Amino acid sequence: MKSILTDITKCIGCNECVLACKRTYDLPPELPRRWHKPDGLSARNWTSIVRLPENKFVRKQCRHCQEPACVSACPVGALIKNAEGPVTYDGGKCMGCRYCMMACPYEIPRYDWDSAAPYIRKCILCYERIKEGKQPACTEACPTGATIFGEREELLAEAKRRRQENPKLQLYGDENEIGGTCVLYVSDVDLKAIYNGRDLRGDPALPSTTAPVLASVPLTFVGVGVLMSGLYWTINRREQLKKEGESGEKANG
Ligand code: SF4
Ligand code: SF4
Ligand code: SF4
Repeated sequence: MKSILTDITKCIGCNECVLACKRTYDLPPELPRRWHKPDGLSARNWTSIVRLPENKFVRKQCRHCQEPACVSACPVGALIKNAEGPVTYDGGKCMGCRYCMMACPYEIPRYDWDSAAPYIRKCILCYERIKEGKQPACTEACPTGATIFGEREELLAEAKRRRQENPKLQLYGDENEIGGTCVLYVSDVDLKAIYNGRDLRGDPALPSTTAPVLASVPLTFVGVGVLMSGLYWTINRREQLKKEGESGEKANG
């Protein structure tokens, strides 16, 4: 399984990883919005660098969980955990209900407010690139080796080796953290700072607890959104199928 290891002690905050991601996916410049979270992630920024005190820089992106809560929460199967590691999504299936946003313990998926057919966006671990035998654009661009790509088992062993060498380092993403993640970290700062004060190390995998969490969300809160999104999705799909039918008829005629 493919993974990324980010070593916070090596990051100089140059932003090259962020720019490489934007270039690769042709993501437009960010628009300032009042409702954006301050971590820099958005539908237009799939990875960000969060600056912490004492000039510490923490790269934030989807953790590509081994047992992703977003996947188990999605009612239409728009999110997929691939055998190679990446958690990807299918914009054609997504109906914009935002259950995944509520389920993700790291608060990663972001809604694309500007699209005529809005759906959630996030890092996809450069799935197409890794299928072609390449590494993700972000790890390729990093000038210091602060964020590297490889097999999960090897990166986990490397992370443990670094922690043994430097006891100040903490390891994030092994099996003790919600079943493990494909984006690992070694860090000399507490990563709670980028996860809204939460530390998930020691917590079990989340899919088993996703249903109770979602059950606690007031239905009135999601109801209208889901209804409207569902309507939009249905109309969109019907139009799409109609077009496919028409082009099929033309081809046969
Ligand atoms: S970090 Fe969130 S969005 Fe990414 S795989 Fe895990 S649950 Fe899904
Ligand atoms: S793995 Fe790919 S999609 Fe994810 S942050 Fe890096 S460049 Fe962007
Ligand atoms: S490219 Fe590397 S050093 Fe620069 S901000 Fe990204 S992770 Fe840090």
